[in-house]
Amino acid sequence: MSSPSSHTHATDPGGDPSLDAATGHNVDLLVIGAGPTGMACAIEAQRAGFSALLVDKGCLCNSLFHYPAGMTFFTTPELLEIGDIPFASANQKPTRNEALEYYRRVAQHCRLQVLQYHTVQGISGFDGDFRVATVDSYGHAATLRARKLVLATGYYDLPNPLGIPGEQLPKVMHYYQEPHPYFGLDVVVIGGKNSAAIAALDLWRHGARVTLVHRGPEMHRHVKYWIMPDISNRIRNGEIQAFFNSNVTHIGQYEVTLNTPEGEQTLPNHFVFALTGYHPDFALLERLGVRLDPANDRRPVCNPATLESNVPGLYLAGVIVAGERTNEVFIENGRFHGKLIANHLRHALRGETAPPLPEDVAATVAATVRGRLRNQE
Ligand SMILES: Cc1cc2nc3c(=O)[nH]c(=O)nc-3n(C[C@H](O)[C@H](O)[C@H](O)COP(=O)(O)OP(=O)(O)OC[C@H]3O[C@@H](n4cnc5c(N)ncnc54)[C@H](O)[C@@H]3O)c2cc1C
Repeated sequence: MSSPSSHTHATDPGGDPSLDAATGHNVDLLVIGAGPTGMACAIEAQRAGFSALLVDKGCLCNSLFHYPAGMTFFTTPELLEIGDIPFASANQKPTRNEALEYYRRVAQHCRLQVLQYHTVQGISGFDGDFRVATVDSYGHAATLRARKLVLATGYYDLPNPLGIPGEQLPKVMHYYQEPHPYFGLDVVVIGGKNSAAIAALDLWRHGARVTLVHRGPEMHRHVKYWIMPDISNRIRNGEIQAFFNSNVTHIGQYEVTLNTPEGEQTLPNHFVFALTGYHPDFALLERLGVRLDPANDRRPVCNPATLESNVPGLYLAGVIVAGERTNEVFIENGRFHGKLIANHLRHALRGETAPPLPEDVAATVAATVRGRLRNQE
């Protein structure tokens, strides 16, 4: 239930004027992170009769916006749907552009309130009256108030570092977008999973000289079955040079050094894509008081039946629920988290008995929280 009140936020003078329009009321639920999961949480909360506000450090579906420009999802469209709103695509698997269009239209259709370009830095207060500190891209601070919180901040903002000299050079990137700037140049792709395979193929097809370096003995077994033959054949034909059981040990301005089973090698190099994965913002989780389980891949402590963390009133949703096992929760299964949280809100804020969840939804969520889901990347 919405609980209207007087102003519930404070901005410093000169801050974003859209804040007044976006947060001029006290929200029942503030969702931090406006990705597909966070959106699903806001939609389900609204449908249960609660007011909801989403806040994001970037644009709506900021992570998807930063995915490779020409990417195609691995998932068929109906498995990316949120709020039971159909995702129509002429393709068997939708593109990034189609997904961005879909989620934007869902936000409009469901009249979601989204405060964009405001980074959440910390929370204070308590269950029933949280204060959430944000800062916008000009450094202006604001405080949002909410009775309950969902943290759905994903993992895509923080790349796993290589920890080697030269990593800070501007030619080293952790996000692949387009092949065109690399025509006729020497490009190293580090990694052995889907992102690395797709980037290496795209770069090669657009005229870059590509070297792939992977610490494992071969491409990872989770590379999709329709990508594997393509990358394997390019490597076999020598069109893409590959070093397995190898590591990049140093990145210079014009070269990279590798440690390979045949010894050290130095290759000419213009650009490096280090596609070695990403991780949730564990520091933020700990700052908010959420305990991480060191014996269970740093999974944050939360109740699998409700997704409420050890901080009363703070729920977790989406990929952060899986801790370091970021390949266990994706849009396909994280999109159900909103139903669980909305059900618990009915009980916590209105004392209602929530309708039971469909069995498959409850089982999928419980498996992701406990870490029993098969790796599906
Ligand atoms: C290249 C690629 C392809 C993929 N393909 C598929 C696929 O085919 N099918 C599938 O199901 N999954 C796929 N995934 C995985 C999927 O996209 C993610 O698991 C999914 O986006 C997670 O959703 P989320 O809502 O939990 O997080 P995100 O979509 O990452 O949303 C988190 C949001 O939180 C915001 N945020 C972060 N920190 C803060 C902060 N401090 N303050 C405010 N906002 C913050 C971010 O800007 C972001 O918008 C793919 C991932 C990648 C990288």
